[in-house]
Amino acid sequence: MTPQKDARSSAELPHIIDAHAHAFPDRIASAAIAKLTAGARWMPVRAVFDGTVAGLTAAMDRAGIGCALLCSVATRPEQTAKITDWSAAVASDRIVPFASVHPDCPDIEAQVDRIAAAGLKGLKFHPQYMACPLDDPRTLRIARRAADAGLAMEVHAGYDLSYGRDDLGSPAAVRRLHEAVPHLRLLACHLGGWQRWDEVLRHVAGLPIYLETSYTLGQCPPQVLEAILSRHPAERLLFGTDAPWADPAEQLARFQALPLSDAARRAALWDNPRRFAGLDT
Ligand SMILES: [Zn+2]
Repeated sequence: MTPQKDARSSAELPHIIDAHAHAFPDRIASAAIAKLTAGARWMPVRAVFDGTVAGLTAAMDRAGIGCALLCSVATRPEQTAKITDWSAAVASDRIVPFASVHPDCPDIEAQVDRIAAAGLKGLKFHPQYMACPLDDPRTLRIARRAADAGLAMEVHAGYDLSYGRDDLGSPAAVRRLHEAVPHLRLLACHLGGWQRWDEVLRHVAGLPIYLETSYTLGQCPPQVLEAILSRHPAERLLFGTDAPWADPAEQLARFQALPLSDAARRAALWDNPRRFAGLDT
């Protein structure tokens, strides 16, 4: 599809960035939504838009969100280059695509370099969908090359609602990934460990890595959430929705209600995701 052109200049867009959103190429969007909806095991999920970039942009408009980091996941090695090409084609002021290198690619370094050469800002890694732990040697290879190429890396963390209680994305593995590649700009989704909140407090909160809030607001017990937020550096908190699997407007309302200072809230919605994704460089 052709990138959405917005009549507004980037300076006029709302200064709110969703650090975690999904969309698919138009021709596979409805099949992808159906498959992912059917795969949910922990709780029912419902897509709030049709899975296309146009649908995501319209949902962002309804919520007053200016820009989204669009996360794709290569579930097979041969998807890697295709996702890079599609990501480059849909990039715009509003859509900042994070591409994806499958850990079984024989040429991991070349694929990471291809993403950087396409002008993209980062890549997404999903340990369950890729069947590869966050601290696996293959993951570290991707992470090292991404850091060297100036790319950011966003990783699913914790359990996944379409999988069982595995350790692929444990908070301890998030910490080991950070310790192995400390110069990587790393974002751990779902506050660093979906449904593993106590382990987040033990292993992740306070590390110099980025965390985002999708699938945590209304799910993580409030006392634990407040403990994580008070221990983690304010300049490393990001707002995320996981759209279409949550409604961006509702997520934003929940985020605005968090016990944060105005300055911390503004930073999480704008400055922090811009620094994480390297949008000013
Ligand atoms: Zn997601």
